Amino acid sequence: MAELNIKRPKGTQDITPKEVNKWQTIEGVCKSAAEDYGFSEIRTPTFEDTKLFVRSVGDATDVVQKEMYTVTSKGDSEFTLKPEGTAGVIRAVIENGMLNEAFPQKLFYITQCFRHEKPQAGRLREFHQFGCEMIGTKSPVADADLIMLAADVLERIGITGTKLNINSIGCPSCRAEYTKALRKYFSKYTDTLCETCISRLEKNPMRILDCKSPVCSGIAKDAPVILDYLCDECKEHFDKLKSILDAMGIEYSVNPRIVRGLDYYTKTVFEFICDNIGAQATVCGGGRYDGLVQDLGGADTPALGFAMGIERLLIAAKQCNAEFIEHLNCDIYLASIGEDALLKTAQLARDLRGAGFVAEYDIVGRSLNAQMKYANKINAKFSAVIGYDDIKKGVVRVKNMETGEIDNLSLDDSFLDRFSDVLTSYVFGDEFLLDKD
Ligand code: ATP
Ligand code: MG
Repeated sequence: MAELNIKRPKGTQDITPKEVNKWQTIEGVCKSAAEDYGFSEIRTPTFEDTKLFVRSVGDATDVVQKEMYTVTSKGDSEFTLKPEGTAGVIRAVIENGMLNEAFPQKLFYITQCFRHEKPQAGRLREFHQFGCEMIGTKSPVADADLIMLAADVLERIGITGTKLNINSIGCPSCRAEYTKALRKYFSKYTDTLCETCISRLEKNPMRILDCKSPVCSGIAKDAPVILDYLCDECKEHFDKLKSILDAMGIEYSVNPRIVRGLDYYTKTVFEFICDNIGAQATVCGGGRYDGLVQDLGGADTPALGFAMGIERLLIAAKQCNAEFIEHLNCDIYLASIGEDALLKTAQLARDLRGAGFVAEYDIVGRSLNAQMKYANKINAKFSAVIGYDDIKKGVVRVKNMETGEIDNLSLDDSFLDRFSDVLTSYVFGDEFLLDKD
């Protein structure tokens, strides 16, 4: 029989216990920073009606043209695994009547995303995004507040040396003129532009500015820039944003070439770049999307948001030697001699676990010697050996595995409290013990 050799799909990752503490650290920081800024978590389905993404992300984008995982399930409509988080959140906000609640709605999510891309470091087919959305404010103060949150998340994780680039890509009214100028400019290069960009020339020439092909991006370097075409309202919004960022001491560069990869953006767009993590350097992308809520069937409502790629945050955090939470090690290993003692350790472990300690006992059927070897291997902080005599006497010897020091603890109602004291003095030193006597 042929050997079964099933590997994980290309562009996906296993997150093993050795790595998961780093993920938990980053997810924890994202969640607590978002909550400090008044955001609530929202969870939406992993797959959505394909039309949702075609409509919001845009049918001339790479995401919709090349990268969607689309499935048709029996007799149903066509579904797509979410390539990004915003579209689903906005659909959910409309569908659940949240547009009638107090504005601004501030929502965050941590979710898997799926894009059929060429896998490389920091670019996967299944990846994870932490995203924040603000719905129901057109003020540039909101843009600045959102950028401040993104900057704080990076800082709290311990990622240093990132650069913030901002731009304004205007609104439909200023974009009409700009699109004409772009079409005129790129028409000169129809012999050299890639096939996708040729098709974009009619449909959405701004997308050419985001093309990853070196030839197209070379040509795009000298294309007209949107900032020269902004209408008064968009210009004022952008100027206000810059002055607020200045006042808050948040450093940025204006980069008139950023358009971002999704069609729904209007006015402000921004990116945080981390230069020391390789070619996939954008750790955060975001901006305003004032037309999206209405486009998806809701009332005309301004909104904005960002998303960070957690894989890239992780690469950056490691690069910056950020600190991660430790895996929780075993507090106490309860070894046993004989059946009665085994049952006693099971009961004791349950009580300890109920009080929040990590407790282990022998669920393998090992000899005492092998049990102690195992306790060593898992780095248990304390161990206790319980035999028939100990149960009879009602006392166990709890041993500090590092120093060999022994504490005699009564096997009665006082056990949990006494063990807690022993563990506290192990972790923090004796002075942290409350004076109980
Ligand atoms: P890029 O230019 O790097 O392809 P993008 O414009 O497609 O990024 P967004 O759609 O704005 O990115 O997604 C927000 C963030 O999600 C990105 O800044 C990045 O950190 C992360 N991201 C996007 N695509 C991937 C991917 N395939 N693998 C890992 N992370 C990704
Ligand atoms: Mg992309």
